[in-house]
Amino acid sequence: MIPLDEALQRVLEATPRLPVEERSLAAAGQAWLAEPVRLDRDLPPADHAAMDGFAIRAADAGSPGALLVVIGEIAAGVEPRMSLGPGQAVRIMTGALVPEGADAVVPIEETAAPDPHAVRLRSTVVPGAHVRRRGEVLREGSVLLPAGAHLGPAEVGLLAAAGHTRVAVRRAPCIGLLSTGDEVVEPDTLPGPAQIRNSNAATLGAQAAAEGARVDYLGIAADSAPDLEARITTGLERDVLVLSGGVSMGVYDLVAGALTRAGVEIRFSRVAIKPGKPTVFGCRTSAGGTTLVFGLPGNPVSCMVVFRLLVAPALRRMQGAERLAETRVSARLVGKLDPTPRREAFHPARLNWSDSGFVAEPVRHQGSGDLVAWRAANGMIRLPADTGAAPGDRVEALLDRDFALR
Ligand code: AMP
Ligand code: MG
Repeated sequence: MIPLDEALQRVLEATPRLPVEERSLAAAGQAWLAEPVRLDRDLPPADHAAMDGFAIRAADAGSPGALLVVIGEIAAGVEPRMSLGPGQAVRIMTGALVPEGADAVVPIEETAAPDPHAVRLRSTVVPGAHVRRRGEVLREGSVLLPAGAHLGPAEVGLLAAAGHTRVAVRRAPCIGLLSTGDEVVEPDTLPGPAQIRNSNAATLGAQAAAEGARVDYLGIAADSAPDLEARITTGLERDVLVLSGGVSMGVYDLVAGALTRAGVEIRFSRVAIKPGKPTVFGCRTSAGGTTLVFGLPGNPVSCMVVFRLLVAPALRRMQGAERLAETRVSARLVGKLDPTPRREAFHPARLNWSDSGFVAEPVRHQGSGDLVAWRAANGMIRLPADTGAAPGDRVEALLDRDFALR
């Protein structure tokens, strides 16, 4: 049994970065940038008005009540032809270029216009007021986004602003999902008394898709060595193969043996976590590249949690992510948690924000098959091995990926 940190390190050491490909900006959202992107012009590219109002010389507005002569108008998108002299003002719109000679913009709300050719300023004005200066955010040639940046809404907006309509990202990993177990049947069938529907493939597929992977469902393998081996061999054609079930100590837990016979080199097979202890990890390298293989426990909660802790970071690394770890927050515990001997423990929790920061309330659950309890949670508490927690204690918590929606 190895600690989680070491397990993650072994996974990441074995994880290759996938090849770079070019995608249209519209198709690049949620991917990770493969190369740094530099600015082709200053940001903003010129001095712009930040408000609708009047472009003036701040020196003309040293005391409130100044009366200026309005010599024209500049709309957004127009290159100004005039140059501003002392005592003059130009009517200007948000986003329009500030004319030569002007060094400030007075918002319309701070003026009174006695007639179309004159404007009275209600207050004094400092140089630079309401002007977005050329290059004040970033200079031409500087790095707008580093390699490994995740492309969310702000990032794709910046790429568009910088004229990058084609972007270099890494190929999406293809992940094969293989369920195992003689009792497991497809969700669209009516299970017999001894059967259960395959929920793990749905859960793992949703998790994989959220990490940008392409999901390839490989069906349900029987608890028989030949069937397992045949399906594993097919699965090894993918970048990642994830199995669920068949890794515990039972007579029919045949996955580890079948993996070895299929040429997978096992890197660990027991992690000091609860849930998820029987997790197996290995790789197979061939001429076609490296396949990472995860044998996750069959319990629906265990396989979901282990995917999050070990598989998701590998998928991010494959796609060149800069950040692999999840955000961890410190929360005040409401309730009590018992220690788990020799293993780090992950408990489903409801996290809420309060005046004193995050508060975490454990969700009562019936063990590692209880997906209903985990669905009521929006995060999980991480406790070190052999450590309990009492009401009011500070605990570490991980927010669910869709925390804000739950
Ligand atoms: P195993 O790891 O194969 O011993 O399975 C542990 C528990 O998870 C058993 O109760 C299985 O019935 C259940 N299980 C295994 N595979 C799945 C699956 N694909 N969907 C839902 N439950 C499963
Ligand atoms: Mg089984």
